[in-house]
This record gives sequence, structure tokens and C-alpha cells, in this order.
Amino acid sequence: MPTACPSCGSRLQRPGEEVVWRCENASCPARLRRSLQHFASRRAMNIEGLGEAIVDVLLERGLVGDVADLYGLTAGALSELVVEPRESRSGRARPRKLGKVGENLARELEGSKGADLWRLVHALGIRHVGERGAQALAAAFGHMEALAEASLEQLQGVPDIGPVVAGAVRTFFDEPHNRALVARLAAAGLNLGRRDAATGPAAPAGTLAGRTFVLTGTLSAMTREQAQAAIEARGGKVTSSVTRKTAGLIVGADPGSKVEKARALGVPQLDERAFLELIIEG
Ligand SMILES: [Zn+2]
Repeated sequence: MPTACPSCGSRLQRPGEEVVWRCENASCPARLRRSLQHFASRRAMNIEGLGEAIVDVLLERGLVGDVADLYGLTAGALSELVVEPRESRSGRARPRKLGKVGENLARELEGSKGADLWRLVHALGIRHVGERGAQALAAAFGHMEALAEASLEQLQGVPDIGPVVAGAVRTFFDEPHNRALVARLAAAGLNLGRRDAATGPAAPAGTLAGRTFVLTGTLSAMTREQAQAAIEARGGKVTSSVTRKTAGLIVGADPGSKVEKARALGVPQLDERAFLELIIEG
């Protein structure tokens, strides 16, 4: 009986009576290509210009490891991207740079940050959650974090949401990689919903301005670089040593002696979950 995904190490899930064990990590390398295509599709984030050929090149070059990485691609990098024509009918078509097409794609990505919440809910690729389901969930909860925290009972209380969909939503947000993905999308500036609908106010760009954080140990769903980028996107800073001025110590698995130092200095400690909430909600 398998317990971990051979591709990404996430805990495998077998919902209900289904025969197949599934990896629920939307960023799992084994499903990333489809995740990206679905994310960009017309009824999801509607990112024109992010077709199969470009998705394939981004993956081949290792430029994206999850859908949040799309928002780190600059117009410059995209216009320099070399894409091979699918078929060269004339036999003369040669690989060429995206140029203007790449610049347009960068604009499309920027524009998609403000898409309605239901589009992002749909785009995440939660099993059994189609366009209608995403619209019902977004209308009911109003904010991604409220949806991510919702209990099975609360989910089933939404019109048109039955036990299968409710279970799939819970399973999705119980996977740490997916929570980290949402935090990174929040840090990239995507619309996560109405501020008044969140359990706290939605974090605007400068929520962590003037606050310095220190990381220790390993986070399960984010690299240290991604965590640092998420803090910096919110206007905060990351340093290597704990002082009285440190706003918080983010504590992953196998932390070092910084935990003792933070305790001695009275610096607040945040576990991974609290850190993700800080990034998403501010
Ligand atoms: Zn996996």
C-alpha cells in the first residue's frame, strides 16, 4: 500500500470508495503540466498566450515549478524565450524568440492578478471543483483563506456543494504544498477575495513593511528562498540572526539554536502554518 507520492513525496490520498491513490499536491511534477494548462485556461485564469507550446518550454527550461512561478517571469525573460514550432510544414520554420508575444503574455499575467476569486478557486485544480462549484464556493466564503479554513460541515452548507466536493476541498487544503502555493500566490499580488470576508484583513503589499524575520529549520512546503521572497513581497526583510528587533522567528522542522535565542529575547515564534497565514492574511 503506497503512502507517499513517488514523484514529490506528498502523502497520497484515497478519497471515499475510489480505487486509485492520488497525489493532491497541485505542484507535483507528475501533474504540473496539466496544472499549468488548466490554470491558464479560458474558464480559469484566462491567460491568453500561455498555450501548450510555451508551457512545455517553461517546463523544459525549469523556469516554473508551480503556477505561482508564472508571476515571477518578466517581460524581458518571456520575450527572450525560444520556442520551437510544433510542426514545420515548409521544413524551413526555425525556433524563434517570443519577442512581442512574450511581452503580451507578461501583460496578460499581470492582468490576471486581479481576476475574480472564483477564477482562482477554479484554477487551482481542486478535484471535483468545476467552474460552477468554484463560483458557489467563492460567493459563500468571499476569501481564499476562509475557504481554506472551512470545515466539512461549513462546505456542505453551501448550495450545490455535496459531500464529495466538500471532501475534495478539505483534502486539497490539508496538503501543505497547496497551502504554501496559495501563500505564494498571495505574495505575488493575486486577488484572494474581499478583505472583510477573510478571517483577518487581506494583506496589502506593504503589510510586513519595517518588520524583520529570521528563518530556522526546514519548511515542509516552501524553500527558504520562496519564504524569503514571500516576506519581501510584503515589504518585510529576512536576516540571519535573531535580535531584540526581530519581529518573528519562523520555525520549521529541525530548528537550530535560534529558537533558544528567540525565547531568551522574547521574540515571537511562528510555525509553518502561522507563517502561511501571516503571508495570506497579513
Ligand atoms: Zn506528487
